[in-house]
Formats: sequence, structure tokens, C-alpha cells
Amino acid sequence: MQWYKRGREAANVPLLSPVKMTILQIPTLLILLKIIPVFTFPLPADDLDSATHYLKEFYGFQDDSSDIVKGGKAAFRANVMKMQEFFGLHKTGELDSSTLGIMKRSRCGFQDLLQYNHGPGNLKWQHKNLTYRIINYTSRLKQSVVKNAIKNAFKVWADVTPLTITNILKGEADMMISFQYKAHGDGSPFDGPSKILAHAFSPGKYIGGDIHFDVEESWSMNREEYNLFLVAAHEIGHALGMGHSKDVGALMYPVYAYIEHQDFALPLDDVKGIQALYGSSNKRDTKPHPKTPEKCDTSLTFDAACTLRGEKIYFKDRFLWRFHPHTRMSQMYVISTQWPFLPSKIDASFENKILDLVVFFHGTKYWVVNGYDLVSRTPGSIYEFGFPETVMKIDAAVQIYKTRKTFFFVGDKCWSYNEREGRMDKGYPKLIEDEWPGISGPVDAALQENDLIYFFNQYTTFHYDYEDKRVVNIAYASSQVCN
Ligand SMILES: [Zn+2]
Ligand SMILES: [Zn+2]
Repeated sequence: MQWYKRGREAANVPLLSPVKMTILQIPTLLILLKIIPVFTFPLPADDLDSATHYLKEFYGFQDDSSDIVKGGKAAFRANVMKMQEFFGLHKTGELDSSTLGIMKRSRCGFQDLLQYNHGPGNLKWQHKNLTYRIINYTSRLKQSVVKNAIKNAFKVWADVTPLTITNILKGEADMMISFQYKAHGDGSPFDGPSKILAHAFSPGKYIGGDIHFDVEESWSMNREEYNLFLVAAHEIGHALGMGHSKDVGALMYPVYAYIEHQDFALPLDDVKGIQALYGSSNKRDTKPHPKTPEKCDTSLTFDAACTLRGEKIYFKDRFLWRFHPHTRMSQMYVISTQWPFLPSKIDASFENKILDLVVFFHGTKYWVVNGYDLVSRTPGSIYEFGFPETVMKIDAAVQIYKTRKTFFFVGDKCWSYNEREGRMDKGYPKLIEDEWPGISGPVDAALQENDLIYFFNQYTTFHYDYEDKRVVNIAYASSQVCN
């Protein structure tokens, strides 16, 4: 069984000879060009228009696009830099692909540049017994489902503060919740499906504390776009006085990202923010509040690592860093914003450069992608590679481009998979330290770059010359993403 055969069947792509393969790879090059930042003016008019609109909407930019063309570039660039700083991007002032990429993603309608973690002027409710009322509903979900989603979203915040928040069915509540269509009388029109999903007003009288959802979104209660519980929990943060956070892992990060939420725990950054406004709860809080990993923390470890079309990708919890060789900058993302179909944690991954595919593993399943696209609709089983049933999870995987061998690491053992023949090599598993002198398992993650394999074991990375079979350097794992 060749593990990639499933994908070919699904995509209905015929088996190709090596010569034809270069033809198949033309789209790859195009996508690669798209990923490399392009620091140029002029941009396509559409991009310039939408960037101008974005900066006006979320960064208080006041010039219009005709000024930019006439030479009002300085104000525009300064605004682009504000936005880049907020999102932790390379501060170039140019509309490079990473900047435009973030501008195109669906998000909240609230501004970004308000005081960190808190809304304007630290506005907060002066009473602790708050009320909310749901005015109308979306036709995409049952009313009971909407009620439950909103109730659970309020609970996320009430659980960590002294606030009590009650649903009322009539009269004026502190926080009035509604689904609205396009322009709806508050000066911030919605824009149809995607882009702006919802907005909310900071605590106060009248419209203060109110929450509006764009009625044209495909609201869901699962990973389909867009999850009402997650968006509601974010907007409630604003209605309680929170601003946007720069922490990619925070609920108050402005860009939408799906998070598994069966047992949702408010991230630590949000807990700190809301408790700075209202104090902590005297209720017993048993939930762990996840802290977003930091790229320069020397105790940083990785779950998985791989290359992808010249970039290096490092996975940690529900996050990943993409390290670009040209900018030498790493950018953090939530996994679901890059590959929405992947599980929220990756055990192992490797790139097959010849086929331009990347394979991700979680538990006994694997997924194959070509760029951002899933190759096969259903995940495969790791047993298709020839693992015994005692293997329930793969720690790390790496494919050596020259030999076309893929090495899998499980505990203190490793397997060698022969890509040409589509089967495991005989004589495996072997002890990792026998196959790779100087490396002892377990291996958390591994990737190949040039003549080196980078093995990750806890907070250490071993730079390994795979032809000489020796460790040539040792560094902190975090050194791969810290810049
Ligand atoms: Zn927001
Ligand atoms: Zn509104």
C-alpha cells in the first residue's frame, strides 16, 4: 500500500512519470511566489482599496486612496506599520503578502488600536449583576441552540469574575443581542458573508454593551464557518470592557480561529485582562487556562516540525510557527487558520518534496495536504504504512530527500519507510541510538534541511549530519523560531 495512492485517487490525478511531475509542479511555484513577500507598489487596485478600507475601519486611518496615489504614502505606511506591529509582522510599512493575508481573514468589527486588553478609557460596568436579552435569531440555527451558545459564552467570563449575568426576556437589558443585516443604524454596516462577523459596544448606557452578529454569516455550532459560541464569547469580552489582544491564542485576538470548545477554558491572557477590570472570582475555578507558547522561551518544546516549499513549520499545541527563509522571521498562527481540517494538535509531520505533499499525524490517523488543500477527504490510518498495531501514535517523522526514505520515530525505536517501494524497510524497527548514533529517543520532532536533520528532544535541538551520522551542533529548540 502506497500511502499517497489514496490521495491520487481522491484527486483523480493520474500517476505521473518524473518528467511530467515538473509540469504538475508549476502551480506549486506559483503558490510559492505568493508566499514570498512582495514589497512593491503599485499593488492591484483591489488590494489597495481593501487595505485602505481595513486601515480606516480598524486603525483609524483617515486619508483616502487618492491621497496615497498623489504621494500621501507616509500616513498610509505609518498605518500599515501600526497594523503590522499589532499582528507581530515584519514592520515594513509595505502591503506584503503576510500583511494582505491577515487583512483578508474574517474578523471582529471592533478596532484594534484601543488600549491593550481593555476597551477605550477602561470602561467597565459599575454593577456586578448584569443582564442580557436576545432580541432576534438566525435562521441557520435553532433558537434553543442560539440561546445555549450565548448562555455558555457568558459563562466563560462569569466563571472567572465576580459578575453574575442573567438572561431576561423583556425590557432593556445591559447587553442587547441581535442579528443584523448590512447597515443597521449604528454607523458600522455589516458586509455580507465572511470578513466582518460581528461587533460589540463597550459598557455604557443605550447602545453600550450591545452585541450585533452579521445575520448573513453561516452560523454553526461546529468547526464549519462560523462558530457562534466562539464569536459570541469574543464579542461578550468587548461588551464587558475588553479590547483586542495581540496574543494569537487569546479569545480577544481580532481574527477568527476555530477552537475545539467542548470544554472551553478561557485562555490566560483573557483571564488576566478581565480580572484586571473586575477582580477574580470567589467561585472555585478548576479549569486550566491555556497560556500561548512564547517563541523565545528557552524551555519551549515542539510537537512536530516539517518543511513546506522552503519554509519551516514548527507545531506546538494548537499553534504553529512558519519560519520563512527570506525574511528570517517566524510568524505564529493557530493551526485551524492554516489547515481548518486538521486536528488541533499534531504529533508528527514530514514533507515529500518530490510529490509536493505534506503529511500530518495525530494518533493513528494521517492527513495529506498539497499546499493548503487536503488531498484526500478522509484521514488515512497509520497502519497503511506497515506499523504494528501496538503503535498508537508517532512521535516524529522526517523524509530524507536524497534517499527517499521516511523515518518514523516511536518511543526509543525508529522505522524506515521506502518511498520508492511503498513499504517499510526490512530490519526495522531499530533502536534510535543504533540507527542515529548520538540521538536517543524519544524524538519530539524532526525535519531535514540541506545535509542536516534537526532532531528535537524536549528543549534541545540536535543538528545532525545524516551522511556522517554525527551531531554537529546542539542548540535550544526555541532558537529555530526566536527572532
Ligand atoms: Zn473583537
Ligand atoms: Zn451594529
